[in-house]
Amino acid sequence: MKPAPFAYHVPNTIDEALAILGNDPDGSRLLAGGQSLVPMLNLRLANFDNLIDINHISGLDHIRIESDSLVIGALTRQYDVAHNDDVRNRLPVLSNALAHIAHTAISNRGTIVGSLCHADPAAELPAVLTAVGGELVVQSAAGTRTIRANDFFNSSFTTAINPNEVATEVRFDLAGGTSGWSFEEVARRHGDFALVGVVIQMTLEKNAISDVRIVVFGVAATPQRITDAEKRLIGQTLNDATLDQAVADVAAALSPPDDIHATAQYRRHVAGVLVRRGLLRALEDANSSA
Ligand SMILES: Cc1cc2nc3c(=O)[nH]c(=O)nc-3n(C[C@H](O)[C@H](O)[C@H](O)COP(=O)(O)OP(=O)(O)OC[C@H]3O[C@@H](n4cnc5c(N)ncnc54)[C@H](O)[C@@H]3O)c2cc1C
Repeated sequence: MKPAPFAYHVPNTIDEALAILGNDPDGSRLLAGGQSLVPMLNLRLANFDNLIDINHISGLDHIRIESDSLVIGALTRQYDVAHNDDVRNRLPVLSNALAHIAHTAISNRGTIVGSLCHADPAAELPAVLTAVGGELVVQSAAGTRTIRANDFFNSSFTTAINPNEVATEVRFDLAGGTSGWSFEEVARRHGDFALVGVVIQMTLEKNAISDVRIVVFGVAATPQRITDAEKRLIGQTLNDATLDQAVADVAAALSPPDDIHATAQYRRHVAGVLVRRGLLRALEDANSSA
């Protein structure tokens, strides 16, 4: 199928893009890597009068460390982030997650920021941002603002970005101290979207857990933090009792969907298995960083 007709705009600056967007925010869409938007247009799941291709705007393709953040520009491709040494060294959970996303032909074009703005409930990167913390920097004709990760994902394919705004970069928080992470996913084939996935970030103080974020994805409209388990684990060590309680908290917190890919019961069970495994791996990683 072919997309419905649209006007194609190729601005050279953010200001030009914002001016075009400002003329008809609801009838316009930004095009980054096109790896999600173009299939949706072709299938006529999306239909816009104006497509604004931001690929010719300079200054949006960067990866840099800024004190306690990893900063990635809106046009930085997933492939380049996956193969960047700073990312591997400072935020390995992101490199690891990227290895589970699609295939090289797609990651060569697809952007990190595009995936976050697309907000697919089964996507890996929204869960990583929710687990490690961070913010999106967005710009409109009125100025620039930041949106924290916890406030960014509103629902399936819906974020806190307004239709007249462009996301210019994402800033992932970099954990200090004795911290570790884990990324677990079950998908039908390598590179597929997750049936269920888990991202965990953990910090230790004097061998006990001082901070932990447990995020499950593929089970709800947005990445879901298991806050009861997080709270209960503070000040604890991992043992059979604390792990069993965390798995029980996961089961109580989730109401996953039944669909053609998996039943709700299967997703709930797998989420518990992955959280148990992920907590142990995050602890091992934190201990090895001490
Ligand atoms: C076969 C296939 C398999 C895939 N498998 C996976 C997978 O396993 N896991 C996964 O997570 N993804 C997967 N993807 C999606 C892929 O990761 C996309 O690249 C990504 O989701 C979107 O990034 P993009 O740059 O291509 O965005 P686009 O497709 O260009 O845009 C996506 C949406 O984000 C908006 N947007 C983009 N950039 C901005 C910006 N700077 N500011 C505001 N809005 C913006 C667009 O307007 C659009 O609504 C797959 C894609 C394909 C085709």
